[in-house]
Amino acid sequence: MKIFYSVDHHHHDPPFEVLDGRSVPYFETPRRVAIILAALAAAGFASPIAASPATLSDLTAVHTPDYLDYLAQAVARWQAAGLSEPVLPSAWPLPGLRLRSDCPQAAAGRYTFDLSAPIMTGTLTAALSSAGTALASAEALLQGERYAYALCRPPGHHAAASMAGGYCYINNAALAADRLARSVTGSDATWTLRAPAVAVLDIDYHHGNGTQSIFYERNDVLTVSLHADPSREYPYFLGYADERGAGAGEGFNLNLPLPAGVADRDYLSALAQALQAIADYGPRYLIVAAGFDTFYDDPLGDFALTTAAYRAIGAAIAQLGLPTLFVQEGGYAIDALGINVVALLQGALSYA
Ligand SMILES: [Zn+2]
Repeated sequence: MKIFYSVDHHHHDPPFEVLDGRSVPYFETPRRVAIILAALAAAGFASPIAASPATLSDLTAVHTPDYLDYLAQAVARWQAAGLSEPVLPSAWPLPGLRLRSDCPQAAAGRYTFDLSAPIMTGTLTAALSSAGTALASAEALLQGERYAYALCRPPGHHAAASMAGGYCYINNAALAADRLARSVTGSDATWTLRAPAVAVLDIDYHHGNGTQSIFYERNDVLTVSLHADPSREYPYFLGYADERGAGAGEGFNLNLPLPAGVADRDYLSALAQALQAIADYGPRYLIVAAGFDTFYDDPLGDFALTTAAYRAIGAAIAQLGLPTLFVQEGGYAIDALGINVVALLQGALSYA
């Protein structure tokens, strides 16, 4: 299994986030990568490869030019207005309000949907490194690898075409999915004519709202997500079971919201349903948006999965027989994060 990692991730290290009305230390810390790398080495995995950073033009595959321009300029414009880091919104253009201003504070509200995606001086560097990690991993699959693991940081699945949030700025899994899909269908095929190409299976505790929205009207990428019911959990405003896709994408999005306290057996049962939907779709490639905040000890989740579950999840995914790219998303029980990643990857490798 080839492993790629975001060598520049440590440039992104925000001091705080605002969660449920409180200012708290930032959960998505650089230490997460160090813990995972150490666990992979201890388990005997091949040395990780430092991927080249993506360019802003690479990112136009799934993000809008105006959003990318915002990300690239946000800190400089914030500072020019006399403000100090981090860039963080304090007001949002909700329905009924007017989006007339492009001043730095208004732009922050326009392009960020919560208070957990602050932009620092090093954020863009880290995000480009993370995106490059996903693209290099996708390239490995195109060159015939059965498995690759992209140790992306910052994560990506909450980032939509023109929206940051939930620790995410660039949607790494979506970028890889788009690259793989275009390799199957050709870059100029219209979406309505494209064949089934890629399935994205999101197993993070939180719904992958960004990934869903990017592919919502496409039929060449099936998006499937198992997650905490958004009626009680972040991201609240997307992730319900009745969201099935639209237009050419109608029927190509599947959400499986789960109740609090879900443990290994019920989770694996829901996973079987997700995997059946993917098998029925018949993709050429699989991307797993691999979050580990489903772990029983995670400070941000209320599921009850054990390390053994990740091994079982990996083995179940492997039974699809597809070239598979695991893309790192969440996971904040940091001391267990490394062994849980290893369990998932070893689970996949254990299925011959
Ligand atoms: Zn999460």
